[in-house]
Amino acid sequence: MNQPTQPKGAKHPLLIVIDGPAGAGKSTVARRVAEHYGMPLLDTGAIYRTLALAAKRQGLSWNDGAELARLLPEFPIAFEPAGRGKGPRVRLGDEDVTAEIRTPEIALGASTVSQLPTVRTGLLGLQRRLAAGGCVAEGRDLGSVVFPDAPHKFFLTASLETRARRRQAEFSARRGRDVSLAEVMREVEARDSRDTQRATAPLIQAKDAVAVDSSDMSIDEVVSRIIEVVDSRVRQAG
Ligand code: C5P
Repeated sequence: MNQPTQPKGAKHPLLIVIDGPAGAGKSTVARRVAEHYGMPLLDTGAIYRTLALAAKRQGLSWNDGAELARLLPEFPIAFEPAGRGKGPRVRLGDEDVTAEIRTPEIALGASTVSQLPTVRTGLLGLQRRLAAGGCVAEGRDLGSVVFPDAPHKFFLTASLETRARRRQAEFSARRGRDVSLAEVMREVEARDSRDTQRATAPLIQAKDAVAVDSSDMSIDEVVSRIIEVVDSRVRQAG
């Protein structure tokens, strides 16, 4: 990963974490904030997705915590910056799996493997190593569990309908296929309930996270709000 550019006055490697449910706009917002500061982006959902893909290829069940845990030490995932306006490419070993991990099937797999305590615990070290030089990280439990000491935590949310509409637009842009809003809403709702109700590290707003409801905000407004909060804290600390 590239060395991050710190905003003036920052004392430590800057770590900005953005948690929130599916479709809240985390990916775009996190990428834009990372570009603003010249920092790498860590998409932790891509890690769960890549694990689900690896498991599928090896014929492992997405519910088998013991078998999945065996894949985790030295899990050969890598992120490669792909340039402005694009999220990083994701590699599994030698292979570029960026597109393959974005299918609905793998989304379901990611959501299933992420329920397992062995998987969540097994991925803590990898996530912390990947974030070690400073980054903008997006996920579900980053502020609460993975990076409890992160100096800048945000919880990005939006209404179910807004999130489903965004997912629908994304789906049709990416795959050129239309799905009904009702279908996407069902998918988003099912993922929400799995994410918020799992026993280990559920999706939760960390106590010290700044909540941003993006339902009636543009991406630009959300990005500006986050940058404003980070910059003002850095100024105060400096
Ligand atoms: O963010 P994304 O949709 O790519 O995440 C895929 C799945 O991975 C989510 O539905 C969630 O279940 C899981 N996940 C997680 N913890 C994270 C990131 C993602 O449980 N930090």
